Amino acid sequence: MLACRSATRSAQHKPLTYASRTFSFSAPRSRQRLVILGSGWGGYEVMRGIDKNRWNVTMVSPSNYFNFTPLLASCSVGTLEFRSAVEPVRRYTPQVKAYQAWCDKIDFDRKVLDCVPATPPLAQSKPGELASFQLHYDALVIAVGAYSQTFNVPGVKEHAHFLKDVSNARAIRSRIMECFEQANQPTMSDIDRRNILHFCIVGGGPTGVEFAAELHDLLNTDVKRHFPGLVNLARISLFDVAPRILGSFDEGLQEFATARFKRDGIRILTQHHVERVEAGRMYVKEKGEVPFGLLVWSTGLAPNPLVESIGEARKDPKTKGLTTNDECQVIMDSTGQADPDVYAIGDAATIVDAPLPATAQVANQKAKYLYKKLNRLVRGRAHTEPFVFHNMGSLAYIGDWTAVYDRTQSENLRGKEAGRLAWLLWRSAYFTRTLSIRNKILVPFYWFMNWIFGRDLSRF
Ligand SMILES: Cc1cc2nc3c(=O)[nH]c(=O)nc-3n(C[C@H](O)[C@H](O)[C@H](O)COP(=O)(O)OP(=O)(O)OC[C@H]3O[C@@H](n4cnc5c(N)ncnc54)[C@H](O)[C@@H]3O)c2cc1C
Repeated sequence: MLACRSATRSAQHKPLTYASRTFSFSAPRSRQRLVILGSGWGGYEVMRGIDKNRWNVTMVSPSNYFNFTPLLASCSVGTLEFRSAVEPVRRYTPQVKAYQAWCDKIDFDRKVLDCVPATPPLAQSKPGELASFQLHYDALVIAVGAYSQTFNVPGVKEHAHFLKDVSNARAIRSRIMECFEQANQPTMSDIDRRNILHFCIVGGGPTGVEFAAELHDLLNTDVKRHFPGLVNLARISLFDVAPRILGSFDEGLQEFATARFKRDGIRILTQHHVERVEAGRMYVKEKGEVPFGLLVWSTGLAPNPLVESIGEARKDPKTKGLTTNDECQVIMDSTGQADPDVYAIGDAATIVDAPLPATAQVANQKAKYLYKKLNRLVRGRAHTEPFVFHNMGSLAYIGDWTAVYDRTQSENLRGKEAGRLAWLLWRSAYFTRTLSIRNKILVPFYWFMNWIFGRDLSRF
């Protein structure tokens, strides 16, 4: 029994009862059927680039949009508005058929997918029951990403916020404002105010660091202006079990970021282990009880339940993701051979013996490689060139108009940058990577508007 269906999307969703009614959809046979699972960095890019006149394309994803994840931290504090960090799947319909649904099961022999709607159940459905449907494919792209890792720490799923989707960013923004409005009530004691204005982040990787930096910017500008009596009670604490933050970055850049955070008053608590989380407090091995108003949890990736459920394919022992050959074709366990019609890219997949970081950069480059390959294959041309990753370096925003840019692993222009220039490169990188013209206008517009007028602190 599979565990990845839900009526509404959430990063760590709960399973619903499976339905008995099953519908089957088979596209006309004139064109080869390509089904793409997932509308993230991998799946959305394949959908954009694929030859839709030659392939009969179907997108299955529980979200009918693409999340521009590098901008989520900015959205969660109001530096950017939510809609500027998403791109709709519907931009490509009706050329592409799209179902807002979870794929729950893949039958590789029959080339059939079991899917369950990710929309609320119909009025006539029994509670918790959803009608499932089947899709047939000739070629399949698995780009379902990964989930947030919790290391089974009790209470994390119930009491912490994740930052993987624009809906998470929206919940975080609302909670930050709730904390300040609550702390502002005349009935609150100073101790309660301090507790509710304690913002904790667990995970010192780029996501945790960027969120801490964006939050610091919010506190030091708009919150300072509008809640002058509260800002000095607010604290940001960043926990990690590792000895350093930004572990994947060059050591000099780690030190630069650490010094910057210390100067900005962000507490870095490395080599700290969170053991349990409850409403409004967590228990840390080295510190005991730590009260918080908001806890953002970002400690890496856990496998997607669909990927976990695929017993036929070979898994990577470390990431538990699907293993592929260097043409992104999934390796089947029984034969040790790649299935020529099943591809896996992004955070859900690892090329055997050539692991790459779980980043948008890798997912996007694999997607580009894959649609070019599929566009050749559909024309009857051969394509056997392997995927080659071109490392463009890593960027992280560290607050107050500064960033770090690590190009020590890149092929060209090796080096590193920290400070204002790196921040300019960070902003221009994400501005140029933004996909639609609409967002290319909206993103700088919101940057400019918030710089002039400040962020909107309304809570709704
Ligand atoms: C806040 C944040 C900031 C980041 N910043 C950067 C950055 O600056 N640079 C960088 O390189 N990387 C960054 N990353 C990492 C990057 O976002 C991921 O590596 C990338 O999203 C992976 O792409 P993907 O297509 O594999 O998965 P995702 O983008 O996660 O997409 C997965 C898709 O699959 C769908 N899905 C899930 N389950 C199913 C199912 N059962 N059936 C069908 N569809 C399903 C999901 O709804 C989603 O649409 C960041 C990540 C986060 C969370």
